[in-house]
Amino acid sequence: MELDSARTEAWLRAAAAAVTAQEAELTALDTAIGDGDHGSNLRRGFTAVLAGLDAGEGGNTAGTDRSPGSLLAAAGRTLISTVGGASGPLYGSALRAAGRALPGATAGPGELAAALDEALGAVQALGGARPGDKTMVDAWAPAAAAFAETAGQGLAAASGAAAAAAEQGARATVPLVARKGRASYLGPRSAGHLDPGAASTALLFTALAEACRE
Ligand code: ADP
Ligand code: MG
Ligand code: MG
Repeated sequence: MELDSARTEAWLRAAAAAVTAQEAELTALDTAIGDGDHGSNLRRGFTAVLAGLDAGEGGNTAGTDRSPGSLLAAAGRTLISTVGGASGPLYGSALRAAGRALPGATAGPGELAAALDEALGAVQALGGARPGDKTMVDAWAPAAAAFAETAGQGLAAASGAAAAAAEQGARATVPLVARKGRASYLGPRSAGHLDPGAASTALLFTALAEACRE
């Protein structure tokens, strides 16, 4: 199986559905250690991504070239321009970088593994967070690694493994003390809470796995 434009669009739509369904939960997580807007930030951003998909964004002027890369890059630009919080530019840069790494009409598991790595690199270049800093990187990094490790087994297996790793990485943020983002202002009081961005990253990888199920 290859990642084609239909699966890429299904991924973005599933991500939008998930962050919308989980808006209250994501906001509750951010209320505990941030400013309580993560759910509404992502719902607003992904609602705009859906509107872009419906309007044919990510295609050429004829609306025909909706390759995986162009769809992801368009979604990334939309997140950057519609989400005011830290997560918009971070997720937006990630999707833009992944999109740039996927120039073909379809992408195999190895190519998507490389693109996910580019996405993680973009998050880290922009935000400066490393694994263990209690951010979305704690879900992205194990997810990208698990995807790369299982890419040889195909897209469905790799995205399933990535989703499981993202979920586990997100849960592992609970005991950590935040060293980046708003939660770091709390110092040791940030421990004992799930990082909102790591939780939403797990939703994005679960959405990818849904879109790539055999
Ligand atoms: P804001 O903090 O601006 O209100 P959000 O609430 O939408 O933005 O997003 C907060 C999430 O963004 C955090 O839970 C964390 O996962 C992620 N985040 C914040 N700063 C960074 C950073 N420097 N690097 C990586 N992720 C970060
Ligand atoms: Mg916030
Ligand atoms: Mg905010």
